[in-house]
Amino acid sequence: MAAISHADIVNAPKALLHDHLDGGLRPATVVELAEAVGHELPETDPARLGEWFVAAADSGSLERYLETFAHTVAVMQTEEGLRRVARECALDLAADGVVYAEIRYAPEQHLERGLSLDQVVDAVHAGFEEGCAEAAAAGKRIRIGTLLTAMRHAARSQEIAELAVRYRDAGVVGFDIAGAEAGFPPTRHLDAFEYLQRENFHFTIHAGEAFGLPSIWQAIQWCGADRLGHGVRIVDDITGGSLGRLASYVRDKRIPLELCPSSNVQTGAADSIAEHPIGLLHDLRFRVTVNTDNRLMSGTSMSREMALLAEAFGWGWSELQWLTINAMKSAFIPYDERLAIITDVIKPAYAKLLA
Ligand SMILES: [Zn+2]
Repeated sequence: MAAISHADIVNAPKALLHDHLDGGLRPATVVELAEAVGHELPETDPARLGEWFVAAADSGSLERYLETFAHTVAVMQTEEGLRRVARECALDLAADGVVYAEIRYAPEQHLERGLSLDQVVDAVHAGFEEGCAEAAAAGKRIRIGTLLTAMRHAARSQEIAELAVRYRDAGVVGFDIAGAEAGFPPTRHLDAFEYLQRENFHFTIHAGEAFGLPSIWQAIQWCGADRLGHGVRIVDDITGGSLGRLASYVRDKRIPLELCPSSNVQTGAADSIAEHPIGLLHDLRFRVTVNTDNRLMSGTSMSREMALLAEAFGWGWSELQWLTINAMKSAFIPYDERLAIITDVIKPAYAKLLA
């Protein structure tokens, strides 16, 4: 079979579950918003700034990777800034052929200039509504749900969980915790997770990225996570194709892994795309999904991640369809709406590509 081109992949429908709003800004937007609020950047030329973000994130440590967010978060402290970033996020994803996306951000990080948590969520939703409407008018339909993230080193998870539940009928589809993993186990936020379970709400937890199996085990068996943000270290419980108890549980229970190949290579969780455990996890039939994590810091897109995997593992349209349907099955929107996107949008498009 001929190799799949990047342009073909752009045209194929894709679903994205793990993408940070503050990790996906356009470099030119960072420059303009920084100027408007008087924030100093390491570079003021958009192209050079874009390169700076990727280089800084390439350092190999999760802690330094997180430093790059000081600049993006600094320009997302006003309603105008948040709204613009969300609108452009929707437009960029739609242009890349993403038909369903869950975008996450931490409202508590956007309060430096006096916004309330509710104002932050309202501004982001307004931006997504605008962006999705504009994309649809241009013939590129995209559905976006948001996940509210609490920072794992902070102590606001209960408050953010309540905020997410309050906005559950207004576009928030789930909850997440993120930030440096070592030293901040998910069980620190057990009250928030137990509250969410009692509210019949969905959540994912960043676990098993920089840190290993105990973090994944806690996220699932103590906190009750529906999905694993990354979860890539589950391979530590697999020896020569033989699964340990935790890996078996994750696979057999069909717990979705939100894998982010380029991001993992940057933070050192994998040595290269070709050596990324996604190949093994695919072969062992885990519920694997492909994600961008931070498009700005990784200089990437959904289509680029798919193209890198197709090249590294010789994957074709059937694998890309499998990954896309896996993601759609694992989405936090209602089952009938997930099914409608699978049967009306994804399967017909891939049937043509497979023919
Ligand atoms: Zn992430």
